[in-house]
Amino acid sequence: MIPFNKPPYTGSETQYVMDAMQSTKISGDGFYSRKCQQWFEDNLSCKKTLLTPSCTHALELAAILIDVQSGDEIIMPSYTFVSTANAFVLRGAKIVFVDIRPDTMNIDEDKIESAITNKTKAIVPVHYAGVACEMDKIMSLAEKYNLYVIEDAAQGMMSSYKNKKLGTIGDLAAYSFHETKNYTSGGEGGLLLINDSKFIDRAEIIREKGTNRSQFFRGMVDKYTWCDIGSSYLPSELQAAYLWGQLENVDLINQNRLESWNFYFNGLKQLENDNLIQLPQIPNDCKHNAHMFYIKLNNLKVRTELIEYLKEKNIGAVFHYVPLHTSPFGSKHSIFHGIDYFTTIESEKLIRLPLWYGLEKKDILFIIEAIYNFFQK
Ligand SMILES: *Cc1c(COP(=O)(O)O)cnc(C)c1O
Repeated sequence: MIPFNKPPYTGSETQYVMDAMQSTKISGDGFYSRKCQQWFEDNLSCKKTLLTPSCTHALELAAILIDVQSGDEIIMPSYTFVSTANAFVLRGAKIVFVDIRPDTMNIDEDKIESAITNKTKAIVPVHYAGVACEMDKIMSLAEKYNLYVIEDAAQGMMSSYKNKKLGTIGDLAAYSFHETKNYTSGGEGGLLLINDSKFIDRAEIIREKGTNRSQFFRGMVDKYTWCDIGSSYLPSELQAAYLWGQLENVDLINQNRLESWNFYFNGLKQLENDNLIQLPQIPNDCKHNAHMFYIKLNNLKVRTELIEYLKEKNIGAVFHYVPLHTSPFGSKHSIFHGIDYFTTIESEKLIRLPLWYGLEKKDILFIIEAIYNFFQK
């Protein structure tokens, strides 16, 4: 059996988790949390980072920080994970979906401007598969209309756009350390990235249940108290310790994934030349992190057959993201701006192949051969 995913584990996580378990503080914001946050701030040219229990929570924090009010409109692609939308729906926002580009599956930057109204508050680009959205265009629209940009960079750690790391371009951004992402903090986890320092103080308060406890621990105030709305958005030290083991091996994991990605890409090239599949496209300005290896089939029927065929061969291939505007909740509580030229039809063609740290070449070769055999029969 070749599973679709295996959580990344390099070996050095164990000692750090054990160490954290035996320390006198295993709640949030201890030794390993600070170490991880420092690492991100040093390596990303980002003003401030805060670990969170998930990317979902980081997005929720971002929605509170930009003060989303009932009726505000938030622009995003419909082809994304539900948390991208829910974080804003929780604050009463109306979600306005914009079509994607068929080449990258990212929001089509040329269709955003006509979706902007005087109620629009933010644009939320999602860097699908760790491949950047066209951020220059998106940032200039945000400037023109005075909007916030919150990057959903859940899949984007170690990717860049014009040499800028994903998550460092918008006002705020979120990473995910879920077990299916390139780096994990032990199954669940996330990071809020703050690129505009005006948000830092309030972010710390909201994350600490609406109190100024962070300032208290730094000795800046002599008692801590209720200051704002908030929730508990701190992960435990055990999660941060696991993540620290991953950060120590950040390039090892990235290189290994990129090698696997390239191996798939070259191995399947002939099928693209024969017009049987489409391979992912990486725009020139983007450096990706091999978060995902997907192929697109010519239609939904072939995709369904291929997934079934691979399952018979014990290969875990999956599809995901039923476009949110077609979902039971989304069809009632959101709008799709303009025409859905690509979102639905392209999402129905896509299939994700196994890709994880440590996946062996012989297994990839087995998968490639299975796909060739599928088309020959
Ligand atoms: C994984 C993912 C999320 C959610 O991440 P969690 O850490 O599981 O909350 C949000 N958005 C996108 C695009 C994702 O891929």
